[in-house]
Amino acid sequence: MRKPIIAGNWKMNKTVGEALAFAEAVKTKIPSKDAVDSVIGSPALFLHGLKEVVKGTDVQLSAQNCYFENAGAFTGENSPAAIADLGVEYVIIGHSERREYFHETDEDINKKAKAIIANGMTPIFCCGESLETYEAGKTAEWIEGQITAGLVDLTAEQVSEMVIAYEPIWAIGTGKSADAAIADEICGVVRATVEKLYGKSVADKVRIQYGGSVKPENIAEYMAKENVDGALVGGASLDAESFLALLEAV
Ligand code: 13P
Repeated sequence: MRKPIIAGNWKMNKTVGEALAFAEAVKTKIPSKDAVDSVIGSPALFLHGLKEVVKGTDVQLSAQNCYFENAGAFTGENSPAAIADLGVEYVIIGHSERREYFHETDEDINKKAKAIIANGMTPIFCCGESLETYEAGKTAEWIEGQITAGLVDLTAEQVSEMVIAYEPIWAIGTGKSADAAIADEICGVVRATVEKLYGKSVADKVRIQYGGSVKPENIAEYMAKENVDGALVGGASLDAESFLALLEAV
C-alpha cells in the first residue's frame, strides 16, 4: 500500500504574511501523517517562517526548486543543504514552468535530484508533455524519455523513495484537467518505465502524483485510480479552505 501524498504548489504567489496565515489556518486541521502526506510547496523565501509555524504538526514542506551545489558563487540560487537545514522534507524539480521559462534540462534535473537526496530530502520529480506531443500520440515515449534521463545513476532504493508527478502541460492552470482514465494510463506509463529501469519492487513502491487543474471537486476521481497515489495542485492549493477540502476528499 502506497501512502497518498497531496502537495500544494503555490508557485510564485503569496507574501510572507499570507503564507504564514495560511499555515496557521491549516496546521491543526490536516489529517494525520499516518494516513496521508500533506505538503505545502512554497517559495523558498517563506520556508523558514512556515517551518516555525508548522513545527510539531503533520504539515510537511516542499521547496519548488534548488541548485545542485551546496554552496558557492551562484548568485540568486538556494542550496539544497540550506533548505534541508530548515527541516524541509521535499523539493519539486523539473516542473514544466522551470523547464520552459528557465531552460532547465534533463541533466540539470538529474543533478538536482542527486543533490536533494544527498541532503536527506525527497525529490518530487515532474514530467509531462505539451499539447502538441499529446495530440501527436507521443505522450508515452516522451514521458519515458524524461524519466529515463532524469533518473540517470540513481539507485533502486533512491528511486523507490521518490515521488514522481505526471503533469500534462495542457492541463496546468487551464481548468482543462486530464480525464482520470488518461491520468491513470500515463501514471501507469511512469510506473512501467520505473519497472523497466529498476524492477517491479521499486515500481510498486514509487509514489506517482497527477497534476493539472486538480480541485476538491475532482480529486477523488484521480485518487480512485490504481496508478495515482496523489496530486500536485497549483491554483486550488492557494486557499486554506480549498487545500483542506483536497485533503478531506482523500
Ligand atoms: P494547476 O493545479 O493550477 O493546474 O497547476 C498544476 C501544477 O502545475 C502544479 O504543479
